Amino acid sequence: MKLIHPVVIGRSIEGREIEVLAGVEGGTLLIGGIHGDEPATISLVREFLPCAEGRVALLPVLNPDGAARGTRYNSRGVDLNRNFGFSWRADSIEPPGPGPWSEPESRALRDFILAWRPARIVALHWALGEIDADGAQSTPLATAMWDAMSASERSPYRLRVTPEAGRDAVLECPGSLGQWAGWGLAYPDGSRPAMITLELPHEPVAARAEPLPEDHVQTVRARWARDAEGYLADVRGGIGKMLRAACAAGM
Ligand SMILES: [Zn+2]
Repeated sequence: MKLIHPVVIGRSIEGREIEVLAGVEGGTLLIGGIHGDEPATISLVREFLPCAEGRVALLPVLNPDGAARGTRYNSRGVDLNRNFGFSWRADSIEPPGPGPWSEPESRALRDFILAWRPARIVALHWALGEIDADGAQSTPLATAMWDAMSASERSPYRLRVTPEAGRDAVLECPGSLGQWAGWGLAYPDGSRPAMITLELPHEPVAARAEPLPEDHVQTVRARWARDAEGYLADVRGGIGKMLRAACAAGM
């Protein structure tokens, strides 16, 4: 196994370290645990470590306080994925914090991204079963991730690319990482990162339902509670192919 020494990029409100397992700058950044009650995202990013080479950085747990409690929000009750500084809204359905960048966890990720300038960012969440591309610059990466999978591995997902994804996301997810990194962020040389939100499937062995059932998160939580290893076994093949494609792109 390739060993990459962790770099502490910040601390949570309760003082827990936020770690990145970093390669050299400018590559692909994989992020899990933005929501603390989505443990599969943490496991899958950590699991990717042996595959990670060179220009890949892994951030398994952005929200370590939430992960310790098993809660979506951080220890102040803020949804970190509504706290980013682009299209932030005080009246967001999920609690966005008192202002953009009010939380140390979202600031730590912002500062790391601005310093490391990943060309590609993939953030994992439960459980919409989607490859969601923010910004027109993200469409080729989303397509490469989709193309990396077999037809059966694709069946629990749908591919959402600009403009559909952007329009929906700004309504549903104001102040999200996807909004900021996909639409709001440009590096000093004018380039923009490809930004993918990879929503894990709620029914990993079934074709994605249309419309999505209301209880998609409860379904995947219940499966995780009784059979976490089985869930991971069902999803890791397709996800591994997608993440390898995301890390190989543009190298
Ligand atoms: Zn989430």
